[in-house]
Amino acid sequence: MQRFQQYIDGVFDDGSARFDSLDPATGAVWASMPEAREADVDRAVKAAEQALWNGAWPAMTATARGKLLYRLADLVQANAPRLAELETRDTGKIIRETSAQIAYVADYYRYYAGLADKIEGSTLSIDKADMDVWTRREPVGVVAAIVPWNSQLFLAAVKIGPALAAGCTLVVKASEDGPAPLLEFARLVHEAGFPKGVLNVITGFGPSCGSALTRHPGVAHIAFTGGPATASQVVRNSAENLASTSLELGGKSPFIVFADADLESAANAQVAGIFAATGQSCVAGSRLIVEHSVKDAFLALLKQKAEAIRIGTPLDMATEVGPLCTARQRAHIETVVAASVEAGAKVVTGGSAVEGDGFYYPPTILDCDGVQSPSFEQELFGPVLSVVSFTSEDQAVALANDTRYGLASGVFTQNLTRAHRMVKRIRAGIVWINTYRAVSPIAPFGGYGQSGHGREGGMAAALDFTRTKTVWLRTSDEPFPDPFVMR
Ligand code: NDP
Repeated sequence: MQRFQQYIDGVFDDGSARFDSLDPATGAVWASMPEAREADVDRAVKAAEQALWNGAWPAMTATARGKLLYRLADLVQANAPRLAELETRDTGKIIRETSAQIAYVADYYRYYAGLADKIEGSTLSIDKADMDVWTRREPVGVVAAIVPWNSQLFLAAVKIGPALAAGCTLVVKASEDGPAPLLEFARLVHEAGFPKGVLNVITGFGPSCGSALTRHPGVAHIAFTGGPATASQVVRNSAENLASTSLELGGKSPFIVFADADLESAANAQVAGIFAATGQSCVAGSRLIVEHSVKDAFLALLKQKAEAIRIGTPLDMATEVGPLCTARQRAHIETVVAASVEAGAKVVTGGSAVEGDGFYYPPTILDCDGVQSPSFEQELFGPVLSVVSFTSEDQAVALANDTRYGLASGVFTQNLTRAHRMVKRIRAGIVWINTYRAVSPIAPFGGYGQSGHGREGGMAAALDFTRTKTVWLRTSDEPFPDPFVMR
């Protein structure tokens, strides 16, 4: 059994308590994890506060911070195979996905490494004589970064990279459902040579560890990724410390296929959009909205592709769909699929859990035309696609926007003017035209409505980890005038 430690103030320790982590492929215990309780959280935040104001970190130039981030990027790249294997073991995300994603995570650190010394204030054309006024961008303070279990290293990188570039210090809370890759990543932070306390990595349970972290008076900003219900709790907690928040939440993203689309291309993108990461992806294109005249042809293509997907053990490079992360997650999917079928949805393929060990659920397609299907409304976070059809562009837009979420969307059409109209009319933070799931450190990422607020990726994300200081300098050699003498 492997044993992991938490990382606080530059030191690795066992945490106040321990808990077991399960291998989703077998359901068996495979590792022992450190559980951070309130005292650990307090130590971690205090270490981050110390590092923010004292010692080497605040004295470092932005260029030097960038160099440390470059070193971290190189270490992530060099250790990508090991990190990928740990993420696969602990969360069930298939190795071919974790390997590719973690290699790319290094590029996120490189992007923010290069950006560290390009964060600028400005000089103001002020409306007063003999006065120079300028602004400085300073680190917002101690950042609490909270991530869910899917794509932990990636979701942490989009917070850690810009926060460190901006000069912040952090306490990163890994999800208790698969913390191994982030706890291992802490060893690379240590090896890169960041001053102690700059980056602390803990894990523990949401209601205790997560809650203590988000309420802590030393925390200035909470960068959170997770579900909307937890986000509400986090925002309520932030009423105690008045921390600012950025929230990357769930989605129920529409995938719209017009009759003029290249159906083969759209079907490949739809398969990637819903079945990649075994559907456990915030941007999963889980609502297929297809033009009625091509619905049957498109569903036949999808069914054929879904049934050809290789389900298997996540550490096998040939596997295309692995287990879900937890038994709880699979039970939730089973419940919603059963309720949808009860409501009248027709199973095109899949629809019941795979027998045997592990938390497997097969690629599933539900035809929900004319049905009030819970699967079409709720985020399932699993490999379940719900399908409805439309007969006009207006109806497609209405269906796409009929959700409280607004994270991502996909539009497949060969009509350029229609594509532009759809971009303006869809209420979502990302619109992919004739593609899906493309991400980059250079491009902002985030949602509308219940999918959250704030953006990760791009220059603006680094600015979100700063606050502005305004400096007034009087340039006159005359003494400051006596305020009680009228002129
Ligand atoms: P949760 O909201 O349950 O958990 C997210 C994180 O919050 C976990 O680390 C969790 O800890 C922690 N947490 C739980 N309770 C509290 C609390 N009271 N205070 C502070 N932190 C707490 O999400 P899931 O793990 O179920 O992840 C799936 C969700 O994440 C989906 O909705 C998905 O769409 C969304 N997501 C969004 C992304 C985006 O970029 N928009 C990307 C990826 C996922 P613990 O797990 O230890 O309980």
